[in-house]
Amino acid sequence: MSERAPRVVNGRSYRWMDRPLVVICVDGCEFDYIHQAVAAGVAPFLGRMLASGAAFEADCVVPSFTNPNNLSIVTGVPPSVHGICGNYFYDREADAEVMMNDPKYLRAGTILASFGAAGARVAVVTAKDKLRALLGKDLAGICFSAEKADQTSVAHNGIERALALVGRPLPSVYSAELSEFVLAAGVKLMEGTPPDLMYLSTTDYVQHKAAPGAAAANEFYAMLDRYLARLDALGATIALTADHGMNDKFGADGQPNAIYLQDLLDEWLGKGAARVILPITDPYVVHHGALGSFATVYLPAGADAGATLERLSQVEGVQLALANAEACARFELPPERLGDVIVVAEKHFVLGTGRERHDLSGLDAPLRSHGGISEQAVPLLFNRPTSGIPGKARLRNFDVFDVALNHLGA
Ligand SMILES: [Zn+2]
Repeated sequence: MSERAPRVVNGRSYRWMDRPLVVICVDGCEFDYIHQAVAAGVAPFLGRMLASGAAFEADCVVPSFTNPNNLSIVTGVPPSVHGICGNYFYDREADAEVMMNDPKYLRAGTILASFGAAGARVAVVTAKDKLRALLGKDLAGICFSAEKADQTSVAHNGIERALALVGRPLPSVYSAELSEFVLAAGVKLMEGTPPDLMYLSTTDYVQHKAAPGAAAANEFYAMLDRYLARLDALGATIALTADHGMNDKFGADGQPNAIYLQDLLDEWLGKGAARVILPITDPYVVHHGALGSFATVYLPAGADAGATLERLSQVEGVQLALANAEACARFELPPERLGDVIVVAEKHFVLGTGRERHDLSGLDAPLRSHGGISEQAVPLLFNRPTSGIPGKARLRNFDVFDVALNHLGA
């Protein structure tokens, strides 16, 4: 297939794969999870990728959340181009807070759809269903979620009875098994008529609870390692990256280090005058209570934005409070889908709206979360060495297709 003309997607060019390519987004995969699992001797294949494949530390997109990063990875461009900057946003025109997981909000084509349209066999498996429609936009191929693997049809997912193919019970949406199901599906698909291009995206249920090196984390990476080894044995090129890292966000008392922005702004500007939006908000908040390290604020007309920024910057645990234009330029975000002010919390802090609006009763472990600059470093691993990556000072997680298709050696 390699003689075929490269596919150009969003201004970037991608050569055809010389063997099946599996790109895996391991949700919440701080690099240290891999180092710790390899050091503990439970992830020999990942150890081989580090030693004799290619391994880089790359930067993800800020906000370091799941959807903006998965969409950056499959489009090869930042949210300023593709438009997805959170799970959730305030639609100024509609004056409504809405979920951003409808494909209508995605403004750029995906690398997956482009290869599919040119005749490549493409398969996408995600853990949660919230990502499926976005990743599968305009895709001629297989696309389903582990969460709803019992409901697939050829018409909607390109595959009938995915659950039967995988041969595992339907996993709970809050479980390590949800991710294992994705990987098991990838192996089953590869064992059949192998897709030319496969994208697998797991969930960070384990990473939200277990720090690198913890027993549950090593168990997860040992499981991942077995599936990677199997995909390698089946002849696939493997490219692994993450949507974001993950850090402890609690104090010595085990309680979340949370800054409740709506409460602060109510005090400063009057009750309900400002609107705080947490783009981490989604229907699955049990494991993080909707607390992440990135927030955006809509100020009331006539508010002194400069003074508010200044005041926010001085709050303990706030790393950065920037005006919309400056933040969107710096983080490559779509200005019209964010508020007047962008706030990023420090490594061990999270941002909330009003204290009473966060249900933390589902947190059965001290809070670990993401969203900030502190979770921006992620792994970029390949099971083959590179032939050199010219002109790249700073690799991004959304360079993964470029490296895998254009820069790997034999
Ligand atoms: Zn994630």
